Amino acid sequence: MKSLQQAISCVSDYDPDALPVAKANEVIRSFVKPIAGLEKLPVRAALGRVLARDIVSPIDVPSHDNSAMDGYAVRGEDLIAGAAVTLVEIGTAFAGKPFAGEVKRGECVRVMTGAVMPRNTDTVVVQEVVTAEGRSIAIPPGQERGQNRRLAGEDLKKGRPALRAGRMLRPADIGLVASLGIGRVSVRRKLRVAFFSTGDELVPAGKKLKAGEVHDSNRYTLWSMLARLGCEVIDLGIVRDEPKKLEAAFRRAAASADAVVTSGGVSVGEADFTRQMMAKLGEVAFWKIAMRPGRPMAFGHIRSRGRSATLFGLPGNPVAVMVTFYHFVRGALLSMMGRSDTDLPLLRAKAETPMRKKPGRTEYQRGILQAKNGEWTVRLTGAQGSGILSSMSEANCFVVLRHEQGAVKAGDDVDVMLMDGLV
Ligand code: AMP
Ligand code: MG
Repeated sequence: MKSLQQAISCVSDYDPDALPVAKANEVIRSFVKPIAGLEKLPVRAALGRVLARDIVSPIDVPSHDNSAMDGYAVRGEDLIAGAAVTLVEIGTAFAGKPFAGEVKRGECVRVMTGAVMPRNTDTVVVQEVVTAEGRSIAIPPGQERGQNRRLAGEDLKKGRPALRAGRMLRPADIGLVASLGIGRVSVRRKLRVAFFSTGDELVPAGKKLKAGEVHDSNRYTLWSMLARLGCEVIDLGIVRDEPKKLEAAFRRAAASADAVVTSGGVSVGEADFTRQMMAKLGEVAFWKIAMRPGRPMAFGHIRSRGRSATLFGLPGNPVAVMVTFYHFVRGALLSMMGRSDTDLPLLRAKAETPMRKKPGRTEYQRGILQAKNGEWTVRLTGAQGSGILSSMSEANCFVVLRHEQGAVKAGDDVDVMLMDGLV
């Protein structure tokens, strides 16, 4: 395994006290590796899981040429360009009940959608345009040879990869696997992620607050974000700001999980004793990231009882937890799960109002994206403080203000990242 120092040494101009978002992600991505370990699951149980091996088509789909419409299967050579023809109907083919005979010159077969193309036919004339009188079928001019016919293998070709390893299986993939007749698939095992909140002021939901206390909300947002990513979550509760208790929690996490996500304890006032402990447990870097919200963060790995886990020490402020999770942790955990597609697209939208922004840091403001008069526009949710969790709840997107970007004027285009794609 690569050491954190090695991952860091690959990054140019590394400054842990003013680290641009892109550089922090460079270190993180070059450090994390996909977990080993597969399981073979029935197709439906694999929904949302990461495919571990390519699926190669064992068959052509469809397996035979077949009709795309209800109508009449004809021989292309019987059609005359620009003229009507009359053919004799000699039978019917249904989906699942092919026509057994052979079609000779001047003949046609009634076909239903999905029926195998009768021998010698290559074209389907839809029933709406023909005039049938008994078995005599009059076909108007203007038919094209090969029309309304689906070719064997036009969806999936035998011997070709149908789905590549590394993709998360979506509903269409589950159906596609079934269309190949495959009943079980190899997926990566679930990633185990431990998490806990730190802070002497924290009180679990359900208990009354005393002066100066706050309810622990981070463990709930963290649980939700991890669960949506498809991780197996291990909740280690609230841990007090005491070195012994923190060390015990980190050791338990390292021994039981692939990754550990914590909130709080990395800000300037608290980082010193966390830092000392981390030096004992593993290799962890403490960063001040050039971003807003979410400046302090710890990243590295910790060990206990011969096992090791990747550590993400997130800030304590509720919005900062979510922002750093989505922009650092999410992609790293997906890579560890074996996902090959971890990036999210940015859209462009017109700012409805001015937005304050200083060059030299990336900002993730919370926005509401709307279609207005045929174009995307975005406005902010209101106060953008890192403790205002309602700004995340109201938002449907992040307005991503790039590192070098300055203030935004009303009417300027800005980058927007949809929250729906994140979860
Ligand atoms: P810290 O990073 O530990 O200094 O915490 C920064 C701010 O976030 C403080 O106001 C904390 O009270 C608050 N905070 C820390 N942890 C949590 C949590 N689990 N739930 C809600 N607020 C928190
Ligand atoms: Mg704290």
